[in-house]
Amino acid sequence: VSKLHILDPSRLTITKTKTPKPLSKPEDLVFGREFTDHMLAIEWNQEQGWMEPHITPYQNLSLDPATCVFHYAFECFEGMKAYKDKHGKIRLFRPDRNMARLNKSAARIALPTFEPTSLIQLISKLTNLDSRFIPDQKGYSLYLRPTLIGTQKTLGVGPPGSALLYVIASPVGPYYPTGFKAVSLEATDYAVRAWPGGVGDKKLGANYAPCIVPQLQAASRGYQQNLWLFGEEEYVTEVGTMNMFVAMKDRETGQRELITAPLDGTILEGVTRDSVLALARERLGPEGWKITERKFTMKEIYEASIEGRLLEAFGSGTAAIVSPVRTIAWKGKQVDCGLKENEESGEIALKIKAWMEAIQYGDEEHEWSVKL
Ligand code: PMP
Repeated sequence: VSKLHILDPSRLTITKTKTPKPLSKPEDLVFGREFTDHMLAIEWNQEQGWMEPHITPYQNLSLDPATCVFHYAFECFEGMKAYKDKHGKIRLFRPDRNMARLNKSAARIALPTFEPTSLIQLISKLTNLDSRFIPDQKGYSLYLRPTLIGTQKTLGVGPPGSALLYVIASPVGPYYPTGFKAVSLEATDYAVRAWPGGVGDKKLGANYAPCIVPQLQAASRGYQQNLWLFGEEEYVTEVGTMNMFVAMKDRETGQRELITAPLDGTILEGVTRDSVLALARERLGPEGWKITERKFTMKEIYEASIEGRLLEAFGSGTAAIVSPVRTIAWKGKQVDCGLKENEESGEIALKIKAWMEAIQYGDEEHEWSVKL
């Protein structure tokens, strides 16, 4: 471990706010609009490595207009949640996964890496300090946003000599407050999100801005999300900002298969994706399901759909856990994803959501749920 990588939680200083914010009514929370009283910030520079961590009142940053983050997108981030269990204890869900992903993203854009356990300790301090913002009801949580930016003041294109790691926290409500609502997708055929050798498997801010126009175009035609395809084969990669799963039966054998795209560098390594795969292997495997990470094409989904073999399709991500899909618009066709008219979710998505929430809210003890 190099000196520059060491981040020391014992040097933490805490300055508490003198003006605590009033709490919003839980039902009024809008994703990512409100923030807690405090934030965590740690500066880094290439001479001294990580400086002492500070928890301070939530506040503006002050940066020179020439700071490299504004010009060359030296920015990566994470999205993770803290949950309150029925005893009022706060729990993080697989924080080690988010730390590992943040380090991979940082390393790819020449930003400093850090010891994962130290940052988890510091995030835990912030979360505990602001835990009053987490509503007690099931479905609510505290969305945590670790962010790492290059702060060197220079228009020269080069590795940032200084950086800032900060964490802000936003109380959020359930993605589907009144139960699942299956979404309709439009397959995007004129833009690609990621490509082999690119950075689509990293959580860089620069990956997100270019996704908005395809999303707006899909919305203008009445679709809630766009589906990202890749290549002439039209491999199905991700849906909006979620990983994509489909469940189908084999044409010849009738074997049921739950499929998601493999981590080939074009797919974000979703923590939810990994959790869905693990739970499905453990709990659906014994029921005869085959759980596979493999490439699959839009044509394969279309054929399964018209032959009545497509059982369901859903996205997976931290925000919604799973998001069921009703149809996919593709080449002028509406591909029906297996839901009955009065259904908002398939069986698998329902089961997975229940399994995940049981673990996240500590109703089922599991090593993925880390008590603070
Ligand atoms: N794909 C993309 C492009 C995303 O931005 C996200 C959200 N982080 C995901 C997938 C889902 O990842 P996770 O399950 O870790 O939230």
